[in-house]
Amino acid sequence: QAHLDAITALDPKLHAFITVTAEQALAQADAADAALAKGEAGPLTGLPVAIKDVFCTKGVKTTAASKILEPFVPPYESTVTSNMLHDGAVFLGKVNLDEFAMGSATTNSAFGATINPWQRQGSDVALVPGGSSGGSAAAVAAGMALAATGTDTGGSIRQPASYCGIVGIKPTYGRCSRYGVVAFASSLDQPGPFARTVEDTAILLGSMAGHDPKDSTSVPRAVPDFAAAAKRGVKGLKIGVPREYRAEGMPAEIEALWAQGLDWLRQQGAEIVDVSLPHTKYGLATYYIVAPAEASSNLARYDGVRYGLRVPANDLKDLYEGTRAAGFGREVRRRILMGTYVLSAGYYDAYYLKAQKVRALILKDFTDVFSKVDALLTPTAPSAAFAIGENADDPVQMYLNDIFTVPASMAGVPGMSVPAGLDAQGLPLGLQVLGRHFDEETVFAVGAALE
Ligand code: GLN
Repeated sequence: QAHLDAITALDPKLHAFITVTAEQALAQADAADAALAKGEAGPLTGLPVAIKDVFCTKGVKTTAASKILEPFVPPYESTVTSNMLHDGAVFLGKVNLDEFAMGSATTNSAFGATINPWQRQGSDVALVPGGSSGGSAAAVAAGMALAATGTDTGGSIRQPASYCGIVGIKPTYGRCSRYGVVAFASSLDQPGPFARTVEDTAILLGSMAGHDPKDSTSVPRAVPDFAAAAKRGVKGLKIGVPREYRAEGMPAEIEALWAQGLDWLRQQGAEIVDVSLPHTKYGLATYYIVAPAEASSNLARYDGVRYGLRVPANDLKDLYEGTRAAGFGREVRRRILMGTYVLSAGYYDAYYLKAQKVRALILKDFTDVFSKVDALLTPTAPSAAFAIGENADDPVQMYLNDIFTVPASMAGVPGMSVPAGLDAQGLPLGLQVLGRHFDEETVFAVGAALE
């Protein structure tokens, strides 16, 4: 009830929620009380969480922040949310995102932008919460939810966590099932949690993760005790500092915070090592070929026939065109055009195939580096939260935001953003911890050491 009250009080201004499921939440809370009374509590019993509106939730409208899915009410539950319900979680509702998770600011939602609960000192300019999981991050940062789910394709958990001063982790690709998660770029999409502490994200991920026969890319590996791993400490660990992440024009404050983070780890017994990920500079260019290519294919299913919006027409072609023109927003249309172009006969070899080859080199960079170090530390994003409307007319400027998060997505390795300090205007900045495939445990240990 306290969280529902916070939503009533704050959400008219922040607009993190697309759907609030108050009645269902109170019923789930009653069930949690009963379970506690019987001594049958699960790891998430009674914990109020918000769900990114890209997870299918049985009987609850799911929009992916797009008009094209309206009025879609899934007849089934995604595996991740089903795991959480099984462990006793209480769902407060569905939270806002960039349409189909395409964006870095949550300004691409068909239902309006989410506002970051943080403001610059002495200013009431509305700031973005980051994206695409901006509703999740804002809900947790403002105390409207204890934790939230997100998805990360090229940084959509890590960057909003950084902008909103909370913790977010993108697990290894394959750690969490994508079954029932509205697809953006299937070889990159990965669900993960947001919370205010590293330990809380560890508990959440323990519930969300696990092999699922319904997702052929989910990996049959046991889920370790992440919360115990968060308490391991960093003594004896080798932490790499990739020199290519010293981006030109990076604000001095972010450089300073990065150095400070390395100092903290050194003081706790870690060894800091300079390393190189030579193909980092191709990360963004290859991501913005591979992700739109997969998106153009995944989004072909929104044809006005099977589900969601249908604009009536006299023939099939008009039905497709009318529905897709009315249903998709500008950024989604841009991605479909880019993706179709790079996949088309004549350009496939020059763009898509080339990008796949470079992707393999980026992966090799990480494999090489992780034979020498246990984890990497970098900034999460090249700036703090920016104002709503900034970068709005310049998609390339918006894409540059993803410079530090995209390489790990291309490689499929786990990455966490941990709040590490404030900039001169009082806005939160995050540091990113990257780890080996399926070694989230070390990521949690390093993340906890930075808190
Ligand atoms: N900002 C990136 C994009 O727009 C990443 C989005 C995501 O991770 N879902 O594609």
